[in-house]
Amino acid sequence: RTVYVNGEYLPEEEATVSIFDRGFLMADGVYEVTSVLGGKLIDFPGHAARLDRSLTELEMTAPMNAEDLLEVHRELVRRNGIDEGLIYLQITRGNPGDRDFAFPPADTKPTVVLFTQAKPGLAANPTAKVGIKVISIPDIRWGRRDIKTVQLLYPSMAKMAAKKAHVDDAWFVEDGLVTEGTSNNAYIVKGGKIITRNLSNDILHGITRAAVVRFAREAQMEVEERPFTIEEAQGADEAFFTSASAFVMPVVEIDGKAVGTGTPGPVAARLREIYLDESLKAAV
Ligand code: PMP
Repeated sequence: RTVYVNGEYLPEEEATVSIFDRGFLMADGVYEVTSVLGGKLIDFPGHAARLDRSLTELEMTAPMNAEDLLEVHRELVRRNGIDEGLIYLQITRGNPGDRDFAFPPADTKPTVVLFTQAKPGLAANPTAKVGIKVISIPDIRWGRRDIKTVQLLYPSMAKMAAKKAHVDDAWFVEDGLVTEGTSNNAYIVKGGKIITRNLSNDILHGITRAAVVRFAREAQMEVEERPFTIEEAQGADEAFFTSASAFVMPVVEIDGKAVGTGTPGPVAARLREIYLDESLKAAV
């Protein structure tokens, strides 16, 4: 693979970052994952806008504008011959030359890293035809989940808990209500109505979520933005999640209980189709 690090395109073996990097020592950094279909970037303006917001919230200066960022994404897609896959982007507060809790001077150069992950068959993913199973797990993450930071230890632990329970993923629960999935936004469907938690600091503002909610409303489907419980989800007609890497993915079992018929439902299937169609048309 050719990767990008601080202005250079390098073979992955030659790309290095300092041991004093704030990302490495303090998880002081943000990231984005953008999918690639047909060699083009899906929802790029949304990812660029959220990146800007994450950086602003953490008082970090954007190392480049959205136009240059798009060019780096495109160049990596070209150099690695990606048709279907993902691009990971990470920006950390850089290398202050030593370890200290306080932020380094504002002119410390951020560390910018991008790499591609080839995922042939990403759009045609056969898992979408059978759906996935989840368990619930307490949400003990920090209170600013709207900022897309690289602090992913607890989501990794939740994924491992899911693995140990022989299911695919976990949904976080706080104060009795579902916040979101380990790396995705959660939804249920009741009587044709799509229900997903309202935006706040409690969840990541998914780029796929924004697009799916818009496409659903444009298709005259009703969307209600409010929290729901695991019990309500288990008793729903359908459940699903959205993310940039899985698009719209049916959830057919929650904590061992089948949702609806225990198979992917028509609303999730339709939303997946609409999302793939529409976002491909707008891909850059
Ligand atoms: N919530 C969390 C916690 C996530 O990590 C992600 C994926 N990065 C999402 C939601 C979905 O966001 P998006 O649709 O932008 O990938």
